[in-house]
Amino acid sequence: MKPVARNRLASALGDMPADEFRRYGHELIDWISDYFENIEDLPVLARIEPGDLKAQLPSSPPEQGESMDTILSDVDKLIVPALTHWSHPSFFAYFATSTSAPGIFGELLSAAFDVKSMLWRTSPASTELEEVTLDWLRQMLGLDVGMSGFIYDTASVSSMHAIAAAREGVEMRIREEGMSGRKDLPLLRVYASEQAHSSIDKGIITLGLGQKSLRKIPTDAEFRMDTEALADAIDEDKRNGIVPFCIVATVGTTSTSSVDPIPEIVRIGEKYAMWLHVDAAYAGSAAVVPEMRHILDGCNRADSLVLNPHKWLFTPFDCSVLYCRHLDLLRRAFSLVPEYLRTPEQENVRSGSDYGVQLGRRFRALKLWMIIRYFGHEGLAARIREHCRLARKFAGWIEQSNDWELTAPVPFALVCFRAKPRSSRMNPDELNEAIMHGVNATGKALLSHTKLNDKLTLRLSIGNIRTTERHVTQVWELLNDQLQRHR
Ligand code: PLP
Repeated sequence: MKPVARNRLASALGDMPADEFRRYGHELIDWISDYFENIEDLPVLARIEPGDLKAQLPSSPPEQGESMDTILSDVDKLIVPALTHWSHPSFFAYFATSTSAPGIFGELLSAAFDVKSMLWRTSPASTELEEVTLDWLRQMLGLDVGMSGFIYDTASVSSMHAIAAAREGVEMRIREEGMSGRKDLPLLRVYASEQAHSSIDKGIITLGLGQKSLRKIPTDAEFRMDTEALADAIDEDKRNGIVPFCIVATVGTTSTSSVDPIPEIVRIGEKYAMWLHVDAAYAGSAAVVPEMRHILDGCNRADSLVLNPHKWLFTPFDCSVLYCRHLDLLRRAFSLVPEYLRTPEQENVRSGSDYGVQLGRRFRALKLWMIIRYFGHEGLAARIREHCRLARKFAGWIEQSNDWELTAPVPFALVCFRAKPRSSRMNPDELNEAIMHGVNATGKALLSHTKLNDKLTLRLSIGNIRTTERHVTQVWELLNDQLQRHR
Protein backbone atom coordinates (compact mmCIF):
# COMPACT_ATOMS: atom_id res chain seq x y z
CA MET A 1 0.00 0.00 0.00
CA LYS A 2 1.30 3.47 -0.87
CA PRO A 3 2.07 5.53 2.23
CA VAL A 4 -0.54 8.16 2.95
CA ALA A 5 0.60 11.53 4.18
CA ARG A 6 -0.82 12.27 7.64
CA ASN A 7 -2.58 15.54 8.23
CA ARG A 8 -3.52 15.87 4.59
CA LEU A 9 -6.19 18.46 3.88
CA ALA A 10 -9.11 18.06 1.49
CA SER A 11 -8.24 18.71 -2.14
CA ALA A 12 -9.84 21.67 -3.91
CA LEU A 13 -12.61 19.55 -5.42
CA GLY A 14 -14.00 16.06 -5.10
CA ASP A 15 -14.21 13.72 -2.13
CA MET A 16 -11.45 12.40 0.11
CA PRO A 17 -8.87 10.52 -2.00
CA ALA A 18 -9.39 6.76 -2.08
CA ASP A 19 -6.08 5.90 -0.36
CA GLU A 20 -6.89 8.22 2.51
CA PHE A 21 -10.44 6.89 2.81
CA ARG A 22 -9.09 3.35 2.96
CA ARG A 23 -6.49 4.25 5.58
CA TYR A 24 -8.88 6.09 7.91
CA GLY A 25 -11.58 3.50 7.32
CA HIS A 26 -9.26 0.79 8.67
CA GLU A 27 -8.24 3.03 11.55
CA LEU A 28 -11.81 3.75 12.43
CA ILE A 29 -12.78 0.08 12.57
CA ASP A 30 -9.75 -0.49 14.85
CA TRP A 31 -10.88 2.45 16.93
CA ILE A 32 -14.39 0.99 17.28
CA SER A 33 -12.96 -2.43 18.25
CA ASP A 34 -10.84 -0.77 20.95
CA TYR A 35 -13.85 1.23 22.10
CA PHE A 36 -15.87 -1.94 22.66
CA GLU A 37 -12.94 -3.75 24.28
CA ASN A 38 -12.19 -0.95 26.72
CA ILE A 39 -15.63 0.52 27.21
CA GLU A 40 -15.81 -0.62 30.82
CA ASP A 41 -13.02 1.83 31.66
CA LEU A 42 -15.38 4.66 30.72
CA PRO A 43 -18.12 6.02 33.00
CA VAL A 44 -21.53 4.91 31.72
CA LEU A 45 -23.12 8.30 32.39
CA ALA A 46 -21.34 11.28 30.81
CA ARG A 47 -19.43 13.19 33.48
CA ILE A 48 -20.05 16.64 32.18
CA GLU A 49 -22.22 19.60 33.07
CA PRO A 50 -24.69 21.12 30.62
CA GLY A 51 -22.84 23.45 28.25
CA ASP A 52 -19.38 21.89 28.84
CA LEU A 53 -19.05 20.49 25.33
CA LYS A 54 -20.45 23.58 23.64
CA ALA A 55 -17.92 25.70 25.50
CA GLN A 56 -15.09 23.64 23.97
CA LEU A 57 -16.32 23.87 20.38
CA PRO A 58 -15.64 26.81 18.06
CA SER A 59 -18.77 28.89 17.59
CA SER A 60 -18.21 29.23 13.83
CA PRO A 61 -17.32 26.65 11.17
CA PRO A 62 -13.75 26.28 9.85
CA GLU A 63 -13.08 28.34 6.77
CA GLN A 64 -10.62 25.75 5.41
CA GLY A 65 -10.95 21.99 5.72
CA GLU A 66 -9.12 20.22 8.53
CA SER A 67 -7.27 16.93 8.44
CA MET A 68 -8.94 13.69 9.51
CA ASP A 69 -6.22 13.32 12.15
CA THR A 70 -7.29 16.56 13.78
CA ILE A 71 -10.97 15.69 13.50
CA LEU A 72 -10.53 12.18 14.94
CA SER A 73 -8.39 13.41 17.78
CA ASP A 74 -11.24 15.76 18.72
CA VAL A 75 -13.59 12.76 18.75
CA ASP A 76 -11.34 11.26 21.43
CA LYS A 77 -10.78 14.47 23.31
CA LEU A 78 -14.19 16.15 23.12
CA ILE A 79 -16.90 13.79 21.95
CA VAL A 80 -16.16 10.59 23.89
CA PRO A 81 -16.12 12.33 27.30
CA ALA A 82 -19.47 13.91 26.43
CA LEU A 83 -21.07 10.55 25.61
CA THR A 84 -23.39 8.57 27.81
CA HIS A 85 -22.32 5.11 26.72
CA TRP A 86 -25.39 3.19 25.59
CA SER A 87 -23.02 0.47 24.38
CA HIS A 88 -21.65 -0.09 27.91
CA PRO A 89 -22.66 -3.54 29.23
CA SER A 90 -23.68 -1.95 32.54
CA PHE A 91 -26.13 0.44 30.91
CA PHE A 92 -29.31 -0.74 32.63
CA ALA A 93 -31.41 2.43 32.31
CA TYR A 94 -34.61 3.11 30.33
CA PHE A 95 -34.70 0.17 27.95
CA ALA A 96 -31.13 -1.04 27.61
CA THR A 97 -30.42 -1.64 23.94
CA SER A 98 -27.39 -2.32 21.85
CA THR A 99 -25.81 -2.15 18.50
CA SER A 100 -23.90 -5.15 17.12
CA ALA A 101 -21.04 -5.68 14.70
CA PRO A 102 -23.16 -6.82 11.73
CA GLY A 103 -25.49 -3.90 12.41
CA ILE A 104 -22.59 -1.45 12.33
CA PHE A 105 -21.45 -2.92 9.02
CA GLY A 106 -24.97 -2.54 7.69
CA GLU A 107 -25.00 1.14 8.72
CA LEU A 108 -21.64 1.69 7.10
CA LEU A 109 -22.75 0.21 3.80
CA SER A 110 -26.02 2.05 3.92
CA ALA A 111 -24.11 5.34 4.34
CA ALA A 112 -21.98 4.42 1.33
CA PHE A 113 -24.96 3.51 -0.87
CA ASP A 114 -26.83 6.57 0.39
CA VAL A 115 -30.05 5.57 -1.36
CA LYS A 116 -33.23 7.50 -0.80
CA SER A 117 -35.80 4.78 -0.62
CA MET A 118 -38.76 6.72 -1.92
CA LEU A 119 -39.77 4.98 -5.15
CA TRP A 120 -39.09 1.41 -6.16
CA ARG A 121 -36.80 2.57 -8.99
CA THR A 122 -34.71 4.85 -6.77
CA SER A 123 -34.04 1.92 -4.45
CA PRO A 124 -35.04 -1.52 -5.73
CA ALA A 125 -32.61 -3.20 -3.33
CA SER A 126 -33.89 -1.30 -0.32
CA THR A 127 -37.55 -1.81 -1.22
CA GLU A 128 -37.34 -5.52 -1.92
CA LEU A 129 -34.86 -6.36 0.83
CA GLU A 130 -37.17 -4.60 3.30
CA GLU A 131 -40.11 -6.75 2.20
CA VAL A 132 -38.13 -9.97 2.43
CA THR A 133 -36.35 -9.18 5.72
CA LEU A 134 -39.57 -8.12 7.41
CA ASP A 135 -41.23 -11.27 6.17
CA TRP A 136 -38.42 -13.32 7.77
CA LEU A 137 -38.89 -11.39 10.99
CA ARG A 138 -42.64 -11.94 10.80
CA GLN A 139 -42.06 -15.69 10.58
CA MET A 140 -39.62 -15.59 13.50
CA LEU A 141 -42.27 -13.79 15.58
CA GLY A 142 -45.04 -16.19 14.65
CA LEU A 143 -47.21 -13.52 13.02
CA ASP A 144 -49.41 -14.56 10.12
CA VAL A 145 -48.87 -13.70 6.46
CA GLY A 146 -51.58 -11.06 6.47
CA MET A 147 -49.23 -8.78 8.42
CA SER A 148 -47.07 -6.75 6.00
CA GLY A 149 -44.05 -4.99 7.44
CA PHE A 150 -42.79 -1.49 6.83
CA ILE A 151 -39.79 0.23 8.43
CA TYR A 152 -39.96 3.68 10.04
CA ASP A 153 -37.39 5.36 12.21
CA THR A 154 -39.01 5.03 15.64
CA ALA A 155 -41.99 3.45 17.35
CA SER A 156 -43.38 6.93 17.92
CA VAL A 157 -43.59 7.43 14.18
CA SER A 158 -44.79 3.86 13.50
CA SER A 159 -47.66 4.26 15.97
CA MET A 160 -48.58 7.67 14.59
CA HIS A 161 -48.87 6.14 11.11
CA ALA A 162 -50.93 3.22 12.44
CA ILE A 163 -53.39 5.63 14.07
CA ALA A 164 -53.51 7.66 10.85
CA ALA A 165 -54.43 4.50 8.91
CA ALA A 166 -57.08 3.69 11.52
CA ARG A 167 -58.51 7.19 11.12
CA GLU A 168 -58.53 6.81 7.34
CA GLY A 169 -60.71 3.74 7.85
CA VAL A 170 -63.34 5.83 9.63
CA GLU A 171 -64.45 7.17 6.20
CA MET A 172 -64.99 10.76 7.27
CA ARG A 173 -62.99 12.36 4.45
CA ILE A 174 -60.41 13.66 6.91
CA ARG A 175 -57.61 13.44 4.36
CA GLU A 176 -59.56 15.67 1.99
CA GLU A 177 -61.34 18.04 4.36
CA GLY A 178 -59.28 17.96 7.55
CA MET A 179 -60.78 18.17 11.02
CA SER A 180 -60.91 21.84 11.83
CA GLY A 181 -64.03 23.91 11.33
CA ARG A 182 -66.19 20.86 10.65
CA LYS A 183 -69.56 20.73 12.34
CA ASP A 184 -70.28 17.29 10.90
CA LEU A 185 -67.35 15.63 12.67
CA PRO A 186 -67.95 13.94 16.03
CA LEU A 187 -65.18 13.47 18.57
CA LEU A 188 -63.12 10.47 17.45
CA ARG A 189 -61.73 8.41 20.32
CA VAL A 190 -58.62 6.31 20.83
CA TYR A 191 -58.22 4.14 23.96
CA ALA A 192 -54.95 3.16 25.62
CA SER A 193 -54.03 2.18 29.13
CA GLU A 194 -52.65 4.57 31.72
CA GLN A 195 -49.35 2.73 31.24
CA ALA A 196 -49.22 3.32 27.45
CA HIS A 197 -46.16 5.12 26.15
CA SER A 198 -46.30 8.90 25.72
CA SER A 199 -45.67 8.41 21.99
CA ILE A 200 -49.35 7.53 21.66
CA ASP A 201 -50.35 10.89 23.13
CA LYS A 202 -47.88 12.61 20.82
CA GLY A 203 -49.13 10.73 17.74
CA ILE A 204 -52.65 11.86 18.53
CA ILE A 205 -51.52 15.45 19.01
CA THR A 206 -49.58 15.34 15.72
CA LEU A 207 -52.56 13.98 13.81
CA GLY A 208 -54.66 16.90 14.99
CA LEU A 209 -57.08 14.66 16.86
CA GLY A 210 -56.45 16.59 20.08
CA GLN A 211 -55.53 15.18 23.47
CA LYS A 212 -59.15 14.80 24.45
CA SER A 213 -59.39 12.13 21.76
CA LEU A 214 -57.26 9.85 23.91
CA ARG A 215 -59.06 8.12 26.76
CA LYS A 216 -56.76 6.49 29.28
CA ILE A 217 -58.02 3.20 30.69
CA PRO A 218 -57.06 2.15 34.24
CA THR A 219 -54.85 -0.87 34.83
CA ASP A 220 -55.01 -3.77 37.25
CA ALA A 221 -52.63 -4.58 40.11
CA GLU A 222 -50.08 -5.87 37.57
CA PHE A 223 -50.29 -2.75 35.37
CA ARG A 224 -52.32 -4.41 32.58
CA MET A 225 -55.24 -2.71 30.89
CA ASP A 226 -58.53 -3.33 32.71
CA THR A 227 -60.66 -4.68 29.89
CA GLU A 228 -63.96 -4.22 31.71
CA ALA A 229 -63.13 -0.55 32.13
CA LEU A 230 -62.25 -0.44 28.42
CA ALA A 231 -65.61 -1.90 27.34
CA ASP A 232 -67.45 0.44 29.74
CA ALA A 233 -65.58 3.47 28.39
CA ILE A 234 -66.43 2.57 24.79
CA ASP A 235 -70.09 2.02 25.67
CA GLU A 236 -70.28 5.32 27.51
CA ASP A 237 -68.62 7.21 24.65
CA LYS A 238 -70.98 5.69 22.10
CA ARG A 239 -73.99 6.74 24.18
CA ASN A 240 -72.58 10.28 24.11
CA GLY A 241 -72.19 10.41 20.33
CA ILE A 242 -68.43 9.94 20.39
CA VAL A 243 -66.96 7.64 17.72
CA PRO A 244 -64.55 5.04 19.15
CA PHE A 245 -62.19 4.02 16.35
CA CYS A 246 -58.90 2.72 17.75
CA ILE A 247 -57.51 0.80 20.72
CA VAL A 248 -53.80 0.84 21.47
CA ALA A 249 -52.70 -2.14 23.58
CA THR A 250 -49.18 -2.65 24.82
CA VAL A 251 -47.00 -5.76 24.97
CA GLY A 252 -44.22 -4.62 27.29
CA THR A 253 -45.13 -1.26 28.81
CA THR A 254 -42.37 1.23 29.40
CA SER A 255 -42.51 1.44 33.17
CA THR A 256 -42.87 -2.26 34.03
CA SER A 257 -43.01 -4.30 30.77
CA SER A 258 -46.52 -5.46 31.62
CA VAL A 259 -48.54 -7.11 28.87
CA ASP A 260 -52.12 -6.02 28.23
CA PRO A 261 -54.61 -8.92 27.83
CA ILE A 262 -54.54 -8.89 24.04
CA PRO A 263 -57.04 -11.74 23.33
CA GLU A 264 -59.70 -10.00 25.43
CA ILE A 265 -58.90 -6.62 23.87
CA VAL A 266 -59.14 -8.20 20.39
CA ARG A 267 -62.62 -9.43 21.30
CA ILE A 268 -63.69 -5.93 22.34
CA GLY A 269 -62.10 -4.35 19.27
CA GLU A 270 -63.91 -6.78 16.98
CA LYS A 271 -67.24 -6.29 18.76
CA TYR A 272 -67.08 -2.53 18.14
CA ALA A 273 -65.32 -2.79 14.74
CA MET A 274 -62.37 -0.77 15.97
CA TRP A 275 -58.75 -0.79 14.84
CA LEU A 276 -56.40 -2.53 17.28
CA HIS A 277 -52.82 -1.31 17.29
CA VAL A 278 -50.35 -3.20 19.48
CA ASP A 279 -47.34 -1.34 20.81
CA ALA A 280 -44.78 -4.12 21.22
CA ALA A 281 -41.87 -1.71 20.69
CA TYR A 282 -39.81 -3.20 23.50
CA ALA A 283 -41.07 -6.71 24.21
CA GLY A 284 -42.20 -7.83 20.76
CA SER A 285 -38.67 -9.01 19.94
CA ALA A 286 -38.92 -11.59 22.73
CA ALA A 287 -41.37 -13.54 20.57
CA VAL A 288 -38.40 -14.76 18.51
CA VAL A 289 -37.67 -17.01 21.50
CA PRO A 290 -39.85 -20.05 20.73
CA GLU A 291 -40.96 -20.63 24.34
CA MET A 292 -41.91 -16.92 24.63
CA ARG A 293 -43.91 -16.71 21.43
CA HIS A 294 -47.13 -16.73 23.45
CA ILE A 295 -46.50 -13.10 24.44
CA LEU A 296 -47.97 -12.14 21.08
CA ASP A 297 -51.04 -14.37 21.53
CA GLY A 298 -53.98 -12.62 19.95
CA CYS A 299 -51.79 -10.24 17.94
CA ASN A 300 -52.58 -12.09 14.74
CA ARG A 301 -56.03 -10.57 15.01
CA ALA A 302 -54.71 -7.05 15.56
CA ASP A 303 -54.74 -4.53 12.72
CA SER A 304 -51.22 -3.31 13.32
CA LEU A 305 -48.27 -3.96 15.59
CA VAL A 306 -45.04 -2.08 16.13
CA LEU A 307 -41.77 -3.52 17.37
CA ASN A 308 -38.35 -1.94 17.52
CA PRO A 309 -35.34 -3.95 16.36
CA HIS A 310 -33.35 -0.99 17.71
CA LYS A 311 -34.54 -1.91 21.18
CA TRP A 312 -33.95 -5.64 21.55
CA LEU A 313 -32.72 -7.07 18.26
CA PHE A 314 -29.20 -5.65 18.45
CA THR A 315 -29.87 -3.19 15.64
CA PRO A 316 -28.19 0.22 15.75
CA PHE A 317 -30.62 3.06 16.20
CA ASP A 318 -32.85 3.63 14.31
CA CYS A 319 -35.12 0.88 13.06
CA SER A 320 -38.78 0.41 13.95
CA VAL A 321 -41.06 -2.07 12.19
CA LEU A 322 -44.77 -1.58 11.73
CA TYR A 323 -46.71 -4.70 10.78
CA CYS A 324 -50.03 -3.76 9.29
CA ARG A 325 -52.92 -5.78 7.96
CA HIS A 326 -54.30 -2.89 5.89
CA LEU A 327 -51.44 -1.36 3.93
CA ASP A 328 -54.13 -0.11 1.54
CA LEU A 329 -55.44 2.25 4.24
CA LEU A 330 -51.94 3.42 5.10
CA ARG A 331 -51.42 4.09 1.42
CA ARG A 332 -54.76 5.87 1.12
CA ALA A 333 -53.77 8.10 4.02
CA PHE A 334 -50.34 9.04 2.70
CA SER A 335 -49.87 8.37 -1.02
CA LEU A 336 -49.44 11.50 -3.09
CA VAL A 337 -47.51 11.28 -6.34
CA PRO A 338 -46.53 14.54 -8.01
CA GLU A 339 -45.62 14.45 -11.71
CA TYR A 340 -41.89 14.46 -11.04
CA LEU A 341 -42.21 11.20 -9.10
CA ARG A 342 -44.47 9.34 -11.54
CA THR A 343 -42.98 6.10 -12.89
CA PRO A 344 -44.29 3.52 -15.39
CA GLU A 345 -44.09 0.69 -12.84
CA GLN A 346 -45.75 2.50 -9.95
CA GLU A 347 -48.96 0.46 -9.97
CA ASN A 348 -47.08 -2.84 -9.73
CA VAL A 349 -44.46 -2.12 -7.08
CA ARG A 350 -44.20 -0.89 -3.53
CA SER A 351 -42.81 2.62 -3.12
CA GLY A 352 -41.81 3.72 0.36
CA SER A 353 -43.08 7.26 0.00
CA ASP A 354 -46.64 5.96 -0.45
CA TYR A 355 -46.80 4.76 3.15
CA GLY A 356 -45.76 7.69 5.26
CA VAL A 357 -45.01 11.36 5.61
CA GLN A 358 -41.38 11.00 4.50
CA LEU A 359 -40.37 11.05 0.87
CA GLY A 360 -36.84 9.63 1.10
CA ARG A 361 -36.15 6.86 3.57
CA ARG A 362 -32.89 5.33 4.79
CA PHE A 363 -31.86 1.81 3.73
CA ARG A 364 -32.49 0.38 7.21
CA ALA A 365 -33.41 -3.11 6.05
CA LEU A 366 -29.77 -3.77 5.18
CA LYS A 367 -28.53 -3.78 8.77
CA LEU A 368 -31.49 -5.85 9.97
CA TRP A 369 -30.93 -8.38 7.16
CA MET A 370 -27.24 -8.64 8.07
CA ILE A 371 -28.06 -9.08 11.76
CA ILE A 372 -30.62 -11.82 11.14
CA ARG A 373 -28.23 -13.62 8.79
CA TYR A 374 -25.20 -13.31 11.07
CA PHE A 375 -26.84 -14.43 14.33
CA GLY A 376 -29.61 -16.55 12.84
CA HIS A 377 -32.98 -17.05 14.51
CA GLU A 378 -31.38 -19.30 17.13
CA GLY A 379 -28.61 -16.86 17.95
CA LEU A 380 -31.02 -13.98 18.44
CA ALA A 381 -33.30 -16.13 20.58
CA ALA A 382 -30.35 -17.32 22.71
CA ARG A 383 -29.29 -13.75 23.50
CA ILE A 384 -32.78 -12.60 24.46
CA ARG A 385 -33.31 -15.76 26.51
CA GLU A 386 -30.07 -15.06 28.39
CA HIS A 387 -31.14 -11.49 29.15
CA CYS A 388 -34.38 -12.82 30.62
CA ARG A 389 -32.43 -15.36 32.69
CA LEU A 390 -30.18 -12.63 34.08
CA ALA A 391 -33.21 -10.50 34.95
CA ARG A 392 -34.83 -13.43 36.77
CA LYS A 393 -31.59 -14.03 38.65
CA PHE A 394 -31.44 -10.39 39.77
CA ALA A 395 -35.13 -10.53 40.72
CA GLY A 396 -34.36 -13.65 42.78
CA TRP A 397 -31.71 -11.76 44.78
CA ILE A 398 -34.26 -9.01 45.44
CA GLU A 399 -36.85 -11.54 46.62
CA GLN A 400 -34.39 -13.21 48.99
CA SER A 401 -33.34 -9.92 50.56
CA ASN A 402 -35.04 -8.22 53.51
CA ASP A 403 -33.88 -4.82 52.31
CA TRP A 404 -35.40 -4.81 48.83
CA GLU A 405 -38.72 -5.60 47.18
CA LEU A 406 -39.99 -6.19 43.68
CA THR A 407 -42.58 -3.65 42.61
CA ALA A 408 -43.84 -5.43 39.49
CA PRO A 409 -43.74 -8.88 37.89
CA VAL A 410 -40.74 -9.63 35.64
CA PRO A 411 -42.06 -11.09 32.37
CA PHE A 412 -39.00 -10.10 30.29
CA ALA A 413 -35.62 -8.56 31.14
CA LEU A 414 -36.77 -5.53 33.10
CA VAL A 415 -36.78 -5.59 36.91
CA CYS A 416 -38.69 -2.96 38.90
CA PHE A 417 -37.65 -2.85 42.54
CA ARG A 418 -37.03 -0.60 45.49
CA ALA A 419 -35.21 -0.50 48.78
CA LYS A 420 -37.43 -0.98 51.83
CA PRO A 421 -35.13 -0.73 54.84
CA ARG A 422 -36.87 -0.33 58.17
CA SER A 423 -34.18 1.72 59.82
CA SER A 424 -33.46 4.46 57.29
CA ARG A 425 -33.82 8.06 58.33
CA MET A 426 -34.93 9.12 54.84
CA ASN A 427 -38.37 8.70 53.34
CA PRO A 428 -38.44 5.71 50.95
CA ASP A 429 -38.70 7.77 47.73
CA GLU A 430 -35.77 9.98 48.72
CA LEU A 431 -33.78 6.94 49.77
CA ASN A 432 -34.35 5.13 46.47
CA GLU A 433 -33.56 8.23 44.47
CA ALA A 434 -30.35 8.73 46.46
CA ILE A 435 -29.37 5.09 45.88
CA MET A 436 -29.94 5.43 42.14
CA HIS A 437 -27.94 8.65 41.88
CA GLY A 438 -25.24 7.09 44.06
CA VAL A 439 -24.91 4.06 41.75
CA ASN A 440 -24.97 6.25 38.65
CA ALA A 441 -22.30 8.57 40.08
CA THR A 442 -19.86 5.66 40.37
CA GLY A 443 -19.81 5.53 36.57
CA LYS A 444 -19.86 1.75 36.80
CA ALA A 445 -23.56 1.29 36.01
CA LEU A 446 -26.58 3.31 34.99
CA LEU A 447 -30.11 2.79 36.30
CA SER A 448 -33.29 4.77 35.77
CA HIS A 449 -36.57 5.05 37.64
CA THR A 450 -40.31 5.36 37.29
CA LYS A 451 -43.27 5.84 39.60
CA LEU A 452 -45.65 2.98 40.32
CA ASN A 453 -48.69 3.61 42.49
CA ASP A 454 -47.11 6.98 43.26
CA LYS A 455 -44.00 5.39 44.67
CA LEU A 456 -40.56 5.86 43.21
CA THR A 457 -39.29 2.61 41.75
CA LEU A 458 -35.90 1.72 40.37
CA ARG A 459 -35.65 -0.03 37.00
CA LEU A 460 -32.93 -2.40 35.84
CA SER A 461 -33.22 -3.25 32.16
CA ILE A 462 -30.96 -5.84 30.54
CA GLY A 463 -30.71 -5.61 26.77
CA ASN A 464 -27.10 -5.07 25.82
CA ILE A 465 -25.47 -7.78 23.75
CA ARG A 466 -22.32 -7.57 25.93
CA THR A 467 -24.04 -7.77 29.32
CA THR A 468 -23.10 -10.86 31.31
CA GLU A 469 -23.77 -12.17 34.81
CA ARG A 470 -20.64 -10.35 36.03
CA HIS A 471 -22.22 -6.99 35.20
CA VAL A 472 -25.48 -7.88 36.91
CA THR A 473 -23.62 -9.07 40.02
CA GLN A 474 -21.64 -5.84 40.06
CA VAL A 475 -24.71 -3.61 39.95
CA TRP A 476 -26.28 -5.65 42.76
CA GLU A 477 -23.16 -5.00 44.87
CA LEU A 478 -23.23 -1.31 43.98
CA LEU A 479 -26.88 -1.07 45.03
CA ASN A 480 -26.24 -2.74 48.38
CA ASP A 481 -23.21 -0.56 48.94
CA GLN A 482 -25.31 2.56 48.38
CA LEU A 483 -28.01 1.20 50.65
CA GLN A 484 -25.47 0.79 53.48
CA ARG A 485 -24.23 4.34 52.96
CA HIS A 486 -27.73 5.78 53.30
CA ARG A 487 -28.76 3.77 56.32
N1 PLP B 1 -43.46 2.31 22.99
C1 PLP B 1 -42.89 1.78 24.08
C2 PLP B 1 -43.59 0.70 24.84
C3 PLP B 1 -41.64 2.24 24.52
O1 PLP B 1 -41.09 1.73 25.62
C4 PLP B 1 -41.00 3.25 23.78
C5 PLP B 1 -39.67 3.76 24.19
O2 PLP B 1 -39.05 3.29 25.11
C6 PLP B 1 -41.64 3.76 22.64
C7 PLP B 1 -42.87 3.27 22.28
C8 PLP B 1 -41.00 4.85 21.82
O3 PLP B 1 -39.93 4.36 21.11
P1 PLP B 1 -39.17 5.20 20.01
O4 PLP B 1 -38.02 5.88 20.71
O5 PLP B 1 -38.71 4.21 19.00
O6 PLP B 1 -40.12 6.18 19.44
